[in-house]
Amino acid sequence: MKRITHWIGGKPWTGTAERYGDVYDPATGQVSGRVDFASAEDVDGAVAAAREAFPAWRDASLTKRANVLFAFRELVARHRDDLAALITSEHGKVRADAAGEVSRGLEVVEFACGIPHLLKGGYSENVSTRVDSYSIRQPLGVVAGITPFNFPAMVPMWMFPLAIACGNTFVLKPSEKDPSASLLLAELWREAGLPDGVFNVVHGDKTAVDALLTHPDVRAVSFVGSTPIARYVYETGTAHGKRVQALGGAKNHMLVLPDADLDLAADAAVSAGFGSAGERCMAISAVVAVDPVGDELVAKIKERVARLTVGPGDDDRSEMGPLITGPHRDKVTSYLDGGAAQGATLAVDGREHELPDGSGFWLGPTVLDHVTPEMDCYRDEIFGPVLSVVRTASYESGMKLIAANPYGNGTAVFTNDGGAARRFCNEVEVGMVGVNVPIPVPMAYYSFGGWKASLFGDTHMHGTEGVHFYTRGKVVTSRWLDPSHGGVNLGFPTNG
Ligand code: NAD
Repeated sequence: MKRITHWIGGKPWTGTAERYGDVYDPATGQVSGRVDFASAEDVDGAVAAAREAFPAWRDASLTKRANVLFAFRELVARHRDDLAALITSEHGKVRADAAGEVSRGLEVVEFACGIPHLLKGGYSENVSTRVDSYSIRQPLGVVAGITPFNFPAMVPMWMFPLAIACGNTFVLKPSEKDPSASLLLAELWREAGLPDGVFNVVHGDKTAVDALLTHPDVRAVSFVGSTPIARYVYETGTAHGKRVQALGGAKNHMLVLPDADLDLAADAAVSAGFGSAGERCMAISAVVAVDPVGDELVAKIKERVARLTVGPGDDDRSEMGPLITGPHRDKVTSYLDGGAAQGATLAVDGREHELPDGSGFWLGPTVLDHVTPEMDCYRDEIFGPVLSVVRTASYESGMKLIAANPYGNGTAVFTNDGGAARRFCNEVEVGMVGVNVPIPVPMAYYSFGGWKASLFGDTHMHGTEGVHFYTRGKVVTSRWLDPSHGGVNLGFPTNG
């Protein structure tokens, strides 16, 4: 059986773990590997390696850092298929989707290659007579990333390329459910010439997370995962004096206005609802159909869902793979009968879809129609292949639904009316908004993040907000003596 262990100081850990977890192939339901769970002492070892590597990496020239990033970019691109295969084998998503997440992660590496430009400060000459001022941004030290199962390569790559480019050293705690991609990324960093200890990986569960959140040498924590854990990470990390950005869960609404192109809207709802089996924080989970388009839209969605091929991620014919674990599949399935019991119509029952034989964690795409806001299937983040359709009377009532939802990660409006779309973008209280685009994931040079219960902290990931998160500002005011310097002055410095 494959053993998956930590990566500390530029090499795999050689210790013996006291605790470990099983890693599954979700397509077969079989255990494929065993991942070591870090103790607090193991985390301490990783943080110590990162702390030791920090002074030299902080002082490495911007050119040197950018060169390592360029080399890393080439290596990740060359190993895109290897990474995708690892992701598919432990997460279950189809290969093309897995390769897609590697590509989106690479965009952040490419953005970070521009670090010499991104770290340029400001300079003002003569802020006072013969006094000059300049601002710089400096790295924080050891920073940590804690990431979810659903994007085992992309979400860590939202964090560490920029953190490292800014001169920090990094400890990653990936999801224990699909930990292998992080180790290939660690090997590629080494091959790219990153000094030992600048990038470290510890595996595990709450014990490892708590050790990072309370460690005196960890200066900042980036987290992505579910809302309860995001809140916990934010509260614990900040109580221990750390800078924290914690991205949480989502319930993304797609508002379909009566003038929308319904074929485009149905394609989008199916793609965004069932891609990666709905296990995406930017998945559409609630389609809000403004009267009178509901019946026609649901008919079009049903036609498309019936044609989806569900199968193993490593089979090129598959469009949707299995869910991450058996218990998660069972929980998602419970919303089908639960929704129906609370009055929704089970328009498409995923259990009746053609599914592979065997003990994989399968569930076909499901559509619940006539869903109302008080139903559990509407209120909960299901995180599976279940699309809920809510009928509503008007733009205003649709907007009220979105405003009342506790989450604010992503949303989309489907319409051909530019004025309505503009009003939607202006009014909606959500961090990432699409206009006829169902999964509006920002490019790396913008920042990714939600509002409300989808974010704890105030800084989104990557883009300029990422640079700010991983650095702190300093302003230097200098006067070089010349014969005209004055004498003692106890007044507060004003500029003249
Ligand atoms: P999760 O919250 O269960 O786990 C995330 C990380 O926290 C993992 O590394 C896990 O080991 C750790 N963790 C789990 N329980 C913990 C505990 N009690 N104490 C400390 N650490 C703990 O999330 P998940 O199931 O891996 O991922 C799915 C969730 O992530 C969904 O809610 C999804 O919406 C969210 N997500 C959000 C975004 C976003 O950008 N907002 C992106 C991807 C996923």
